[in-house]
Amino acid sequence: MFDGQKFLVYNKTNMKTKVMKASIRALVVFGKIIRRGEIAAFPTETVYGLGGDATNSFAVEKIFKAKGRPSDNPLIVHLGSKFRIKKYVETISPLEREIIKKFMPGPISLVLKKNELISSLVTAGGNTVAIRIPECKLARRLINFSRRPICAPSANTSKRPSPTVAAHVLEDLNGKIPLIVDGGQTEVGIESTVVKVQDGKVYILRPGKISKEDFEKELNVEVIEKAGGAVVESPGVKYAHYMPKCRMVLAGENDFEKVKNFYNSAESSGKSVVIFCKNSDLEKFKGLNCVGLGEDSVDASHNLFKALRDYEENDLIIALKITNGTMAAGLYNRMSKAAKGEEI
Ligand code: AMP
Ligand code: MG
Repeated sequence: MFDGQKFLVYNKTNMKTKVMKASIRALVVFGKIIRRGEIAAFPTETVYGLGGDATNSFAVEKIFKAKGRPSDNPLIVHLGSKFRIKKYVETISPLEREIIKKFMPGPISLVLKKNELISSLVTAGGNTVAIRIPECKLARRLINFSRRPICAPSANTSKRPSPTVAAHVLEDLNGKIPLIVDGGQTEVGIESTVVKVQDGKVYILRPGKISKEDFEKELNVEVIEKAGGAVVESPGVKYAHYMPKCRMVLAGENDFEKVKNFYNSAESSGKSVVIFCKNSDLEKFKGLNCVGLGEDSVDASHNLFKALRDYEENDLIIALKITNGTMAAGLYNRMSKAAKGEEI
C-alpha cells in the first residue's frame, strides 16, 4: 500500500526520492502522485521527462522550480493516445491531422492552438501548446494511469545534458522529486522533433529523430528548418543547454590530425582530455583517451548525453562531428549546444 505519510513532506526540499522499476505498482504510484498535484520522472523513447498535471498550475510550478527552468520556456504536453488531442486544442487543420496520423505516437511534438484546459504556465503564457504522444509503451501507460495530460520537460537540471537513464535523473533531482520510474536507457537519446504548421508549410523548430526528409517523404509539402535561425520560435532553443561540466569543442568529421594536435597541446599543459568519435575512427587515435559513440548519427544520438555525463570530469572533450545516418541534424544541434558553439 502507498504510504500517505510520505506525501506530507513532498513540498519540502530534501524529500526522499524513490526509484521504482517499471511495474504495475509503479504505474499506480505514478498515477496517484500526478493526481495529487505532485511531479515525477518517467522514461520515454527520447529522454526521461519530469511530469506533472498540465491542468494544475501548482504542479506545473513545481516542475519549473525543480529544474530551475526559465518560466518563458514552455513545456510539452504528453498524452496517452492521439484520440485525446482534440480535448486540449482549439482546432486541427488537415495538414496537422496528417502529421498526427503519420507520425504519432512517436518522437515528435506538434505545436497547436491550446484551449482553456491547459494551464497557461505550461505554455509560458502563449496560446499554443506542443503536444506529444510517446512511442514508448511504458510512458503511455504511465500517462493513462494518471488520467491527466502530463506536461513534461526533460528531467534534468536546466542547462545540463538531458537524462537517458534513471541515474542521471537521480544525479540532478535527488531530494527534489518524490519518484523516478526506471525504464532503462532511452532508445532515441535526444529530445523530440518540435514542429508547427503555418500557411500550408511544416516548420521544424527543433530537430530530432524525425527529420526534414521524413516529413517531405510522407507529406508532400514544403518543410523548413527554423531551429538555429535568426527568429527563435521555440523558446527553449535560445537557452544554453546540454552542457557538460567541462569545456567541449567540436571538430570536423575527418579532422584527425587537427584533433590529435589539439589533444596533445591540451595534454601537455596538464589537462585531461577525451575524444568522442565514430567507433570506426577509434584506431586513428590509438594511445589517446578516446570513446566511440557508435557507427552513425543514430547510435551517437543514443549515446551522446550519457557520454557527456560519464566523461565530464575531464578538463576537455573534443567531439568529432558525425554526419552519416538519419539523425545528423538532431545530433549536430545537441553537440553544438553542448560545446556552446565552439569549433576547432
Ligand atoms: P524540453 O521539454 O526541455 O525538451 O523542451 C521543450 C522544447 O519544446 C523547448 O525547446 C520549447 O521551447 C519547445 N516548445 C514547447 N512548447 C512550445 C510551443 N508552444 N511553441 C514552440 N515551442 C515550444
Ligand atoms: Mg530539456
